[in-house]
Formats: sequence, C-alpha cells, structure tokens
Amino acid sequence: MSDSGTSVREIRINPIVPTESVLVATARGMRPKKAEDKVERDTRAHVETCPFCRGNEERTPPQIRAFPENGDWEVRIVPNLYPVLGDDKSQTNIAFGLQQVIDGYGRHEVVIDNPSHGIALHEMGQQHLADLFAVYQQRMNELYASDRRLKYVLVFKNFGPAAGASIPHTHSQIIATPVVPENVLNEVHHSREYQRKYNHCVFCSLIDEALTYEATIYDRESGQIRRKINVGQYVVERGERFIAIKPFASRFEWEIHVLPLQHQADFARASAEDLADFARVLKRTMARLDQVVGGVQYNFFLHSVPHGAEFEDCEQSYHWHLEICPRTSIPTGFELGSGLFVSTVSPEEAAEALRNAEIGDA
Ligand SMILES: [Zn+2]
Ligand SMILES: [Zn+2]
Ligand SMILES: [Zn+2]
Repeated sequence: MSDSGTSVREIRINPIVPTESVLVATARGMRPKKAEDKVERDTRAHVETCPFCRGNEERTPPQIRAFPENGDWEVRIVPNLYPVLGDDKSQTNIAFGLQQVIDGYGRHEVVIDNPSHGIALHEMGQQHLADLFAVYQQRMNELYASDRRLKYVLVFKNFGPAAGASIPHTHSQIIATPVVPENVLNEVHHSREYQRKYNHCVFCSLIDEALTYEATIYDRESGQIRRKINVGQYVVERGERFIAIKPFASRFEWEIHVLPLQHQADFARASAEDLADFARVLKRTMARLDQVVGGVQYNFFLHSVPHGAEFEDCEQSYHWHLEICPRTSIPTGFELGSGLFVSTVSPEEAAEALRNAEIGDA
C-alpha cells in the first residue's frame, strides 16, 4: 500500500458497485481546480429575516411535526415550498424522473435541523444529533406507513452553496417516492449479487477488511496481549456500534461512509442505543473533516434498504449507511465527459489525515 507522500496512479473499481470506478492520481499535474476557497460560513445564531429561525414559524408552510412536540422546538419538519425542481434542485442527485412521481404521490419535506441558524453538524450536541436522526427515522416510518406505494424515503442534506443549499439556515430534506433512486438501486442489485455468490454481505466484508489491519502486540515472555493498535487503513472513526470509513474507491476525495458494525439493513429499525453511538461517531467524523478540510461544504445521503415486496430478500445483503460527500473540487470536463472521477488525494492518505486530526473530546 502507498506510503504517504508517494504518488499513486490507478483506476479503482468501486467494490460495492463495480460499474463505477475512480482514477486515483495524486501526481500534481492531475490536480483539478479547487472549488472557490472556503466560502465564509454564516455563523450567526439568529437572523431576524430568516424563515427557519425561531420566532418566524408563521413564515413557513404549516409544520408537519416538531421535536419536542411542546415548548421550544429543536427540530422542525415543514413541507417543501418548491418540491424537487425548486430549492436545491440541480445538486440533489435525484434522477429527473422523480419530478413526475413526486407530483403524483411523492412527498418532499424540509427538516430544520437546529434552531441555531449557522451551526455546523460537528458543533451540534451529541444528543441533538441522536434526536435529529430519530426524527428522520420516525418520519420515515410514518411516510412508509402512509402509502404502500412509497418504496424509498431519502434523507439528505446539502450544506454550503457549493453543495447546493439555497437557504443558509441549516436544514436537510426528506423525499418519499414510489421509485428507488438509481444509485441506491445499483447498490441493492450489486450487493444482492454478491450475497448470492459469496453468501455474505459486501458491506460487512468491507468493514471486516478495514478492521483486519488492527495490529496486536504480544508480550514475548507471557504471550499475553500487551497492546492493540488500530491501524485500520481506511478507518476514520470507530464507535461501539458504528464505524466511519474512507472508501477505497469513492467519487469524492474526502468522502466518508458511516455504517453499523453489526449487519443491519434498515435504518428505520435502528435502536435508540444505535442512534446514540451513531451520533457520537458522526459528530467526531465531522469534526475531523472540519479540522482537515476546513469550513467544508458537503452533501450527505442516508442509504437504507428500500421498502416493497421486491426488496424483501435484501435483508441479508443490504447494509444501511450514511454517505458524506464533501465538495472540495469542481468536476473537470474530463470527469463529466468520461464519467470517471479523479481523486487527487489517495484514500489511504485521506483516511490517515482524518484519523490524525486533533479533535479533543468532541
Ligand atoms: Zn435562520
Ligand atoms: Zn452487512
Ligand atoms: Zn450508498
């Protein structure tokens, strides 16, 4: 494997979706243009004119739910005033066809993540993050239960103008549709194939692989374990129940996936204990990203097993995860034309930098 500082130049196949590949080219000449340098982040806690700030509740469409239900809200869900093709349109990675279905019987909602206007994810409390994901989960279950035709509820977030967020107040979105987004469908199909061939979940295999780099040092005299060092090459953060890994082949240089360590297909069934550990791993991961990349703009996408009869056999093969995709460079013409993404930071180096970031007790 590459030592840091050595240049890497190879095409890597995405192990989960083998039809996707990335060119890892760390030689300087290949470096694509950087996105506008760090956009000044609006860090104000309250903005008088912002429809998402506390006290301006009457400026949004009637709320769908608030958490907590009484008293000052911490998280609020409202309908999206501009479904799909309005707000955040071009950056959502939502297939175009979804527009029609949403008009038919899909749902598009906005989740106001936090009352504090410009707060970043890693600045939110761990409990708040656990509550936020519990709110997503609850809404997801409600939507699935409300209409049997809904096959997928996508939760995603655009943070920063480069990531497509048009409203500066921190928020995320929920889209419920009768079709499964193409990238999730690709993962579903390929992981099902893998399961048929190897009788094992491909995501679990990747986690095992990431962890096999753990070194154990034994005491020569007694043979007892003296020290265990986690040198997992692709491991960014590890909790009791969750792990954050830098994929071996990913479209975005600083892309990170957070997955449950124990096989679990459906986010909608994660327990409160799961969400507590997930929140801790997510907060620490985002703090690492902020340390290393600085004021990072990103999208995150929650990928979970789709609902519906044709996905009932995916319980063993699909493994839910959160994909965090920082927008640190603009795709070049070559990338857009060839569909082959170029990564100028090797995933091994990226993981190492993130692991070594000083984040204290975040
Ligand atoms: Zn605001
Ligand atoms: Zn699994
Ligand atoms: Zn995914």
